[in-house]
Amino acid sequence: MLEHVHEYVIVGGGLAGASAIDGIREVDAEGSIALIAAEHYYPYHRPPLSKKLWFGKQTVDKIWVNKEDYYSANGVDVALGTNAAEINPANKTVRTDAGDVFHYKKLLIAAGASPRRLPIPGGELDGICYLRYLADYEALKAATEIGKSALVIGGGFIGSEIAAALNINSVEVTMVFPEDYICNRVFPESLGLSIHDDYILRGIKLLSGDSVASIEKDGSGFKVQIRSGKELKTDMIIAGIGVEPELGLAHNAGLETQKGILVNEYLQTSSPDVYAAGDCATFPYQALGALMRLEHWDNALNQGKQAGRNMAGAGESYAYMPYFFSDLFDFGYEAVGEVDTRLDIFADWQEENKTGVIYYLRDGAVRGAMMCNVWDQAPAARELIKSGKKVDPKELRGAIR
Ligand code: NAP
Repeated sequence: MLEHVHEYVIVGGGLAGASAIDGIREVDAEGSIALIAAEHYYPYHRPPLSKKLWFGKQTVDKIWVNKEDYYSANGVDVALGTNAAEINPANKTVRTDAGDVFHYKKLLIAAGASPRRLPIPGGELDGICYLRYLADYEALKAATEIGKSALVIGGGFIGSEIAAALNINSVEVTMVFPEDYICNRVFPESLGLSIHDDYILRGIKLLSGDSVASIEKDGSGFKVQIRSGKELKTDMIIAGIGVEPELGLAHNAGLETQKGILVNEYLQTSSPDVYAAGDCATFPYQALGALMRLEHWDNALNQGKQAGRNMAGAGESYAYMPYFFSDLFDFGYEAVGEVDTRLDIFADWQEENKTGVIYYLRDGAVRGAMMCNVWDQAPAARELIKSGKKVDPKELRGAIR
């Protein structure tokens, strides 16, 4: 058993954890830092795994958050392939699976989230790709060198993006998802159905309103029973059916949780020397006046950095409004705020279902905006949301171009 003593300990080697190092170093040039990361890779950006790496726009050597020498140059002791098993806020220690103990003055939990598994017979078979980590991308990329067909399960972010990516890479893709159209949580019906038609025109088979009952191995591929009765053979299966935040460490340490690890505006948990950021944190989203847990890249980047700054004593409130983005063939968007089809929707199209801005309103005030093939307008959307002003939706026409 080894004992390590550090000023700052970060649990989680994703983007939030890596960004916290920048944040700490902006305020404290000296204090020692340890980064405990379950993966065997240094922190990397995740969006390329379902986007640019498939479009020939980026290569794996360009996805790293920092070059390897950044960590030694910044005095960071990096423990890769290491699982934090227990946090003890009273003793201010983190114990790893291997029994090593890290002592901290300030701790950040940036443990992220893990893919939900298919709760069906065969859901745990080898070769099913729950696309989340670099190793999953590497395995899927290798499978596409041999396989010709793929079944994509789930119609959310991962499902819609990887289906497009595989189609572009000449894989025969079938998607199965329970909703009427893909991304139905963020796309209003007419846009969703238009994207749906575009996918079909591009040769993707869509089994909407359906799900998978069971999966069996079939030679090097799979035999899949679809609930509505079809049987399907496929070389590859990719499942993107959501993620679950990593809350075990926080629960066992007695920290307060609410869908995620509950933090205040300074990103402190119910134990003030323990901070949380990224996919696992539920935080006060100030402009919306609500507690939120966000699973997007830009939140991990900025919240992680802010947590680092605050661990080092900055004492700044996290008021940033993150954006998220996606690319589905020729349709790309950036979005800010509460982008949820259960809200009232006003679409201001320049070209219907292609270029324009969709506003998501509650009680007459804009809560979120999706800018479809309209770029670099997140600041304008933030101002509109922050104002909290009630508007007649017609006044929104032309508000963001
Ligand atoms: P997701 O966007 O939450 O979508 C999951 C989808 O799977 C939902 O439509 C869900 O339907 C459906 N589903 C749930 N159980 C299912 C089942 N048993 N069979 C078939 N479908 C099922 O999650 P994701 O696509 O897996 O993405 C994972 C995470 O990565 C998310 O946190 C996401 O934010 C992040 N991500 C973000 C981006 C981006 O910002 N562009 C891109 C990729 C990934 P219900 O709604 O009915 O549960």
